[in-house]
Amino acid sequence: MNPTLEIFSQGEEIVTGQTVDTNAAWLAQEAIHCGFTVTRHTAVGDKLDDLIHLLSEIAARADCCICTGGLGPTSDDLTAEAVAKAFDKPLTFDAVAFDQIIEFFQSRNRAMPQINRKQALLPQTAIRIDNAWGTAPGFAIKHRRCWFIFLPGVPSEMKAMFIEHVKPDLLARFTLHPPLLISLKSFGLGESAIQELIKEIKIPNKVELGFRAGTDDVQTKLLFPFDYPKTDLNTLVSELNDCLGDYVFAIDGLGEPTGDLAFEIDKFMTANKQSLAVIETASHGLLAAKCVGYDWLIKASYEKNIKVSTQALSTEEQLIHAKDLAMVTQKNTGVNVVLIQLYTGDENALIDKNKSIGLLSVLLVGKAFYQTTHSIVGPISRKQNQAALLSLDLLRRYCQGKTI
Ligand code: ATP
Ligand code: MG
Repeated sequence: MNPTLEIFSQGEEIVTGQTVDTNAAWLAQEAIHCGFTVTRHTAVGDKLDDLIHLLSEIAARADCCICTGGLGPTSDDLTAEAVAKAFDKPLTFDAVAFDQIIEFFQSRNRAMPQINRKQALLPQTAIRIDNAWGTAPGFAIKHRRCWFIFLPGVPSEMKAMFIEHVKPDLLARFTLHPPLLISLKSFGLGESAIQELIKEIKIPNKVELGFRAGTDDVQTKLLFPFDYPKTDLNTLVSELNDCLGDYVFAIDGLGEPTGDLAFEIDKFMTANKQSLAVIETASHGLLAAKCVGYDWLIKASYEKNIKVSTQALSTEEQLIHAKDLAMVTQKNTGVNVVLIQLYTGDENALIDKNKSIGLLSVLLVGKAFYQTTHSIVGPISRKQNQAALLSLDLLRRYCQGKTI
């Protein structure tokens, strides 16, 4: 059986709903991927008695507990005091922690307020967890059956400390059997369309199916128990992959590193020594921005005038125009791959969230042309991002030998 883990968030702002408890969500995912069974999330306000009570309860029922928040210097930050009282481990001054806090302020040319000294007080026998990202050190302490970890509430500090210090320690301290997470990353299908496509596939009870819709992809996730037979796992993943077809641009979790569309395009472009020039319109530079850091993007330009000169043209004329542009660009730049993006509809259509634009993406590779058309609706930020992704996806499909 997996060790059990509870997550406990401290702070009045969490209980009252002023701050959404993103720490608990993030930590739960991390803990599950480490191999823990997450049994409970609790949030408690700034009340010493409530904190003491909860700590004592958790110490009796969980194998591990991660608590965030309440490690700051102010009077509402009560975590260390509550631990001291609940576990009968009086607060003691940690000179190393104090030096680190002084150093934190000195490095920013600020005087240390006296109240920050409080952050160097840790419960007796606690192991300090260094915080290179803020002032409050965290700490870990065992009480009864439970290994407790206390981290600051600020998400960036909490995450950095977890990855750097806590996770390696947990993996060494507990006997864990991490489940295997496989994510099929797709672009161009919504969650409900995916669910419809895969409805005939029988997902065994032991396997958890989930979805995560991001701005640049939708991930269909399968969580397998660590001892799930490898051949059955491969069969299920292939079945899903076949159903989702060419929309899938990467499968994460099978060993090979995966990334976003540009990352997958890079695998082909670099291996085949290809070079790319891009002319974009509706995505306003976002397409090029998504390819930052890759050597194969030789030239990218945003062309406002193309849209103006083509808005009155028919789709057929627009296609001819795009092809001409691609050939001229190929000649002028000396690249072998050119990606041209045009759209129909005026600037108002781009800005008006209720109006749609028609997007034409044309790819020229050597002497061969490929093209796709799409309609995009919604606020301008969505139109820009979708335009960048849809044009990039044309290139991705070519690079991966998928249907266009
Ligand atoms: P500080 O030194 O900043 O006081 P702390 O450990 O005392 O650190 P809190 O005071 O509880 O942490 O929270 C600091 C800030 O971190 C909060 O204002 C909030 O913005 C954010 N925060 C705290 N807890 C959470 C949480 N569970 N989820 C998301 N954000 C949180
Ligand atoms: Mg605080």
